Amino acid sequence: MATMVNTVTGPIPVGALGRTLMHEHLFIAFAGAEYDPLAVLDRPAFIAEAVTRLVELREVHGVRSFVDPCPIELGRDVTMMKEISEKSGVHVVCTTGFYFEELGLPPYWRARTVDEIAELYVREITQGIGSTGIKAGAIKVATGAPDITELEKKFLAAACLAQRATGVPIITHTQDGVGGPEQQRLFADGGVGAHRCLIGHCCGNADPAYHRRVVDGGSYIGFDRIGILRLMPDETRADNLAKLVRDGFAKQVMMSQDRHCGWLGKYQRQVGAAEQAEMDRLRPLGKWPPPYSYMFTDFIPMLHARGVTQADIALMLDENPRRFFAAETLPG
Ligand SMILES: [Zn+2]
Repeated sequence: MATMVNTVTGPIPVGALGRTLMHEHLFIAFAGAEYDPLAVLDRPAFIAEAVTRLVELREVHGVRSFVDPCPIELGRDVTMMKEISEKSGVHVVCTTGFYFEELGLPPYWRARTVDEIAELYVREITQGIGSTGIKAGAIKVATGAPDITELEKKFLAAACLAQRATGVPIITHTQDGVGGPEQQRLFADGGVGAHRCLIGHCCGNADPAYHRRVVDGGSYIGFDRIGILRLMPDETRADNLAKLVRDGFAKQVMMSQDRHCGWLGKYQRQVGAAEQAEMDRLRPLGKWPPPYSYMFTDFIPMLHARGVTQADIALMLDENPRRFFAAETLPG
């Protein structure tokens, strides 16, 4: 059983996590954006905006902790996370671990062995990230679609070694709503307990049978892209989440939104003129990127309309994250 969790401001008792969003981001920068002369980060302005948004989460919605599983190579900036955490009074947990092959995995690390990658992960958890002294509180694993590649399997194997060496949990990215059960099988092969894994982005699959396979495998299941409507309508997410609750699996559901409040340069896809105009309209209003409060203001009411109770919400947002970081087995 783990009693402490690493946050960017230092270790805290797992009991102090409180209401926790398990998969959100503060700042994202895809590799190469730094060469775009038009991609400029106004660091003080970004930090001020992030603090405003986290303070709203804390004061209005009772959120005490915010897990930012930013992959190492997606602009992870833990000193900026620390400053935002200190100024907002919200605990921030960062992770070690790389992204998936199609959009990440730097050439230098592709050439490393499983042991060399695991050594980096363990170092970032036990000694700190770079020279910051800031320690990762979990391990990020990411795989692509339609299949998990050999390279991704190597990084996943390294994550298993680091998990067993340090005891911190694993938070995953899956792509296109597939790959969760395959990740579970690879984690089991690597000797990692299913209850130490949060299989992310499962709400990207509309089929309740897929969700059932993941929860039957004993892992936590991420309904953690709430509000990303271009990937899935929230009505479908709400229907599927309510079904999991009805079927007795609320103890395994983690709710989050995979939102961000700062992004370096342009998006990692082409944005049409109409969509760009809408972003430009919303940004000065503080509504772009879309706020973290959406889950509370818009999505949870949809769950209530489908019979999910406030006690179910508390289980998913307060108790599940604590149990996950505490390494406790699932109840019942
Ligand atoms: Zn994410």
